[in-house]
Amino acid sequence: MPQANHEPRLVVLAGPTAVGKGTVSAYIRTHFPQVYLSVSMTTRPPRPGEVDGVHYHFVAPQEFDRLIAAGEFLEYAVVHGRAKYGTPRGPVERALALGQPALLEIDLQGARQVRETMPEAMFVFLAPPSWDELVRRLVGRGTEDEAEREVRLETARRELAAADEFDRVIVNDDVRRASEELVSLMDWRPSAL
Ligand code: 5GP
Repeated sequence: MPQANHEPRLVVLAGPTAVGKGTVSAYIRTHFPQVYLSVSMTTRPPRPGEVDGVHYHFVAPQEFDRLIAAGEFLEYAVVHGRAKYGTPRGPVERALALGQPALLEIDLQGARQVRETMPEAMFVFLAPPSWDELVRRLVGRGTEDEAEREVRLETARRELAAADEFDRVIVNDDVRRASEELVSLMDWRPSAL
């Protein structure tokens, strides 16, 4: 739990696959530019419409491993047993040092790592309105084949069971409402360094 009298600068958002974390992040990027939104590195290839440096930094596996060895990640994980994803440390630390609230949208493994190293952060779980709705969203996205969907559903089942580990649960029934609730949890006072 965050300490009493201490509103969090760093908010970690996790939740099952396809719950809409990306949509909430995109909403915050557009409507709350004061929030520093961490841009993760990944070894997976870009999807159509994804822009390098905006949605992710797309890097080769060798480069990712070099950055791990150099201690450049706040956390990193292999997600869905496929690609590596990680949060570059420098930009997040710089934003926090400037008094800017920072948001990490990462998977459960990554959230657990950050809890070890930065326990003062607030950990928020984005939940679907229901399991059926989650399956609908996952199938509806249509960017993965059936085998990939099964892997992701299995991950989602495990991730849903972890909601109890988080400080707050936000139900993503409406992107705008959920995003506003998330931002309302952040500390805005620039003098609170
Ligand atoms: P996608 O490939 O669909 O963009 O993302 C797959 C999963 O990777 C999502 O659950 C997303 O939250 C997670 N993810 C994205 N960036 C990071 C990161 O930097 N670290 C970790 N641990 N997970 C991440």
